[in-house]
Amino acid sequence: DTSIVLFTRDLRVRDNPALAEACRAGRVVPLFVLDDAILGRPAAPNRVRFLLEALACLRGSLRELGGDLVVRRGDPAAHVARLAERTGARAVAVADDRSAFAMRRLAALRELGPAVSVHPGVTVVPPGELTPASGDHYRVFTPYSRAWERAPRRPVAAVPEAIRLPPGVDPGPLPPLADLTGGPTSPDLPEGGERAGRRRMAAWLRRDAAVYDDVRDDLAADRTSRLSPYLRFGCVSPLELANATGEGFRRQLAWRDFHHQVAAAFPGLPRRDYRPRGRRWNRDRDALDAWRAGTTGVPIVDAGMRQLRREGFMHNRARMITASFLTRNLWIDWREGLAHFDAWLLDGDVADDAGNWQWVAGTGNDTRPNRTLSPLRQASRFDPAGEYVRAYVPELASVEGRAVHRPWRLPEERRRSLDYPPPIIDLD
Ligand code: FAD
Repeated sequence: DTSIVLFTRDLRVRDNPALAEACRAGRVVPLFVLDDAILGRPAAPNRVRFLLEALACLRGSLRELGGDLVVRRGDPAAHVARLAERTGARAVAVADDRSAFAMRRLAALRELGPAVSVHPGVTVVPPGELTPASGDHYRVFTPYSRAWERAPRRPVAAVPEAIRLPPGVDPGPLPPLADLTGGPTSPDLPEGGERAGRRRMAAWLRRDAAVYDDVRDDLAADRTSRLSPYLRFGCVSPLELANATGEGFRRQLAWRDFHHQVAAAFPGLPRRDYRPRGRRWNRDRDALDAWRAGTTGVPIVDAGMRQLRREGFMHNRARMITASFLTRNLWIDWREGLAHFDAWLLDGDVADDAGNWQWVAGTGNDTRPNRTLSPLRQASRFDPAGEYVRAYVPELASVEGRAVHRPWRLPEERRRSLDYPPPIIDLD
C-alpha cells in the first residue's frame, strides 16, 4: 500500500509517528507543501528562512534512508489529491496540529477520498487528551500541569529503516528564500533543521540542563535551551525532551502543551480577549513605534526588543518585561505586541504567542493575580550587573554596572554624549 505523509510542523525523521507508521505499511510519498495561504500573509522572513533550512535537512535525511522529500507550492489538499491520483496512494498521514488553520487543512484533506490518519508528536500530550473532572477544558495551568505530569506517555517512534518511494514522482526543487519572502531577516539567526536542533539539544543537555532551575531567569547568562524554534517546526521531539529533562524544564513543556490545548478549545483566542475587561487601550503610534524599534529610553525594554530583531529570539524574562511594559505601562493593545513578535520570532506560534500575551496582559484564560512587572525592579533582579543591556544596546556599552539601567540619572553632560533617548515615560 502507498501512503502520503504530509509534513507540516513535524520536520524530523526521529520520533515522527506519522512517518514511522506509514513506512511500516508500505511505499511512502513524503510531502511538504509551501502553503500559499501561509506564505501570502505575508510570511515572517526569519521563519521562512528557518523553514527552508529545515526542509533541506529533512530532504537529506530522507534521501539517506532511500527516499526523498517531495516539495510543492500552493494548496496542500490540491497537491495531495494530485499525488494520490498519480501514485495510487490510498492513505494520508499527518501530525496532530489543532490550530484553527491546521483544522481547516485537515477538513480539506478529509474531503479527498484517501483515508486520513492523525498522529501525535507536535506536543508531549495531545490537545484534548486531558480533561478536568467537569468534563470541559482546562483553563488554568496548575491543575493542568498536575494531570500532565501523571499522563501516560507514548513510546518514542523508531526511525524508519528504509523509505520506499513509488516510482515516477518528481521531488521538485526547494525554492530560494527570495522567491518566498522579500522582507529582511535578522543578522544573527541559528541554523534551522533537525541536525542543528539535535546538536543544540545534546549540547544543552550536557552543559546546562542540570542548572536550568537556577539560571533560567538570568538574562545575561543566556543558558535556557533556545530550542523553541526547533520545537516550533518539529525539528526536535517534545516527547524526547520531556523524557530527558527534570521537573523545572518539563514544566515549561507543559506550558507549551497547555497553550496548545487552550488554543484548540478556544480558537478565537489569538484575536479576542479571553477575559474581556472593558479596557480602553491607548492608541499611541509614537510609543508603539519606539517600543518596536527598541528606542523607548528604558534600557531593559530596549535591550529585549533589539535582541528580537537581531536574533529572531528574545529571552523569556525579557519577553515578559517588554510585554508588560507595552500593555501595562503604555496601555497599548496586546495584539499590537503579538503582531510585532509574530513578524520576527523564529518560534512565533499562534497558540504560544497569543496565550503568553494574554497571560501578561491579564486578559488570558489563567486568572493569575493582575500585576504589572516593574521594568526597573526586574532589571535589577535579572540583569543586576547590566550585562544584558550592554550586549544589546551599544549606545550604553560604556556605562558601567547597574547605572546602565537608569541612564537618565547620569550627569547631564555624560547623558548627552551617549546618543540614547530619554525615557518615553517616567518610571522613577
Ligand atoms: P526554555 O526555557 O529552554 O524552555 C524550553 C521550552 O519550553 C521552550 O523552547 C518552549 O518550547 C517551552 N516554553 C517555555 N516557556 C514557555 C511558555 N511560557 N509558553 C509556551 N512554551 C514555553 N514561546 C514560543 O514558543 N512561541 C511564541 O510565540 C512565544 N511567544 C511569547 C510571547 C510572550 C509575550 C511571552 C512572555 C512568552 C512567549 N513564549 C513563546 C514563551 C517563551 O518565552 C519561549 O518559549 C522561550 O523564551 C523560548 O526560549 P528557550 O527555548 O530557551 O526556553
